[in-house]
Amino acid sequence: MSDLLSLSLTEARDALKAKKTSSTELTEAYIGAMEAGKSLNAFITETPDKARAMAKASDEKLARGEGGAMEGLPIGIKDLFCTEGVLTTAASHILDGFKPEYESTVSQNLWNAGGVMLGKLNLDEFAMGSANITSHYGPVENPWRRSGGGNQKLVPGGSSGGSAAAVSGRLAIAATGTDTGGSIRQPASFCGIVGIKPTYGRCSRWGVVAFASSLDQAGPLTRTVSDAALMLGAMAGHDPKDSTSANIAVPDFEAALTGDIRGMKIGIPKEYQVDGMPEEIAALWKKGADMLRDAGAEIVDISLPHTKYALPTYYIIAPAEASSNLARYDGVRYGLRVDGDSLIDMYENTRAEGFGEEVKRRILIGTYVLSAGYYDAYYLKAQKVRALIQKDFNDAYQTVDAILTPTAPSAAFAIGENQDDPIKMYLNDVFTVPASLAGLPGISVPVGLSGDGLPLGLQILGKAFDEETVLKVGGVLEQAAGFDALPGFLAGGK
Ligand code: GLN
Repeated sequence: MSDLLSLSLTEARDALKAKKTSSTELTEAYIGAMEAGKSLNAFITETPDKARAMAKASDEKLARGEGGAMEGLPIGIKDLFCTEGVLTTAASHILDGFKPEYESTVSQNLWNAGGVMLGKLNLDEFAMGSANITSHYGPVENPWRRSGGGNQKLVPGGSSGGSAAAVSGRLAIAATGTDTGGSIRQPASFCGIVGIKPTYGRCSRWGVVAFASSLDQAGPLTRTVSDAALMLGAMAGHDPKDSTSANIAVPDFEAALTGDIRGMKIGIPKEYQVDGMPEEIAALWKKGADMLRDAGAEIVDISLPHTKYALPTYYIIAPAEASSNLARYDGVRYGLRVDGDSLIDMYENTRAEGFGEEVKRRILIGTYVLSAGYYDAYYLKAQKVRALIQKDFNDAYQTVDAILTPTAPSAAFAIGENQDDPIKMYLNDVFTVPASLAGLPGISVPVGLSGDGLPLGLQILGKAFDEETVLKVGGVLEQAAGFDALPGFLAGGK
């Protein structure tokens, strides 16, 4: 493996600035790694020619001492972001052949900052899932394997599974993801990397294929917390094209990583001690709290009383919004069309063939909870509970600065496991969904290994638009944990 591949995003940025390497050299190393790493199925579309041209342009800028925050850095884009002229699939058959005529604001921001595009990363179909097994383009493989034998292929988590696998397996130096209910944080935890979901409104949703519009947020998946700070800074910002994008200045996130959390109050919510939580997750959580205490923070027990309603609330609201958003895929405007005897037949045939099972399940649930007879009982009720969940966080943040929880209730599981039972799969989101409903920022940082040698992450949640605290506490946790284990994939143990 080329040494260049072991550089983090910030290290590579510094090496480029110091002219110790060039973007072309770095990009070629990643193009080689993508080629060698095809077994992970992390990419749906690779764009090596585009990458080479962008790298060349970056090298010219760097030679003149110019360039943006991401200048010359080769990254992957989750295939949910529209990229001009480049196939954009949302991992769905229904978007066959769709090449957008526009670029999503977030990816455009990254290109404006000098980023180099390696390609489009695999995901769960329309970002619905927790294991990256619902993609029309096949499952993504986690670069990690259990140490305890079996050598089973494991899931990378989802829905940003291609992004997490690519960053962990060093097929991209960093990647974009989206998080509706945990899809950045949970795969980051499963793959031993860092993932931050910013506050709702921090990154523009314009040009991101919509799943659940009141929840969807873009964010980076990276190797380190400072990488996350750098890349989030480049992705974020107000966008007049998205009316839910916040008109708030983007702080210098890297500058927030002072390492000093003395006197800060960190909440431990008792409701996250869910039944059946594996002992090793509970132990890791405690260890994380000890690390933060040792760094000078005060650990405070808190209560978020409506936590247990978060998952059912999410699985009403997210499918409701999805059923409405996905109505546009009718065989007329985009991608796949399956002909029929009448217009209605054509719609039905297209949607029957174009959507996978999980997407159909969500459309059915969503349509049901929004139907005239059930709207009040389900959708309206869920909206009310959502407000209570938001209030829980607001109350807690009267006393604490941030909250520490596990990211996911387990380590990565095998491809095929949990697949027979959708409810079991939905339980993966138990710790990530509450902050999504409340629109709050959260980061997952790798802190330890499971008994089977798989990475486990802890989550830090913060106040709205206080990513700086989230990153700062995340940085301290990262430092204290010193997580430096690497996936078997990198040792050639494929
Ligand atoms: N796993 C959750 C779901 O399936 C979250 C997905 C996401 O955040 N995009 O809905």
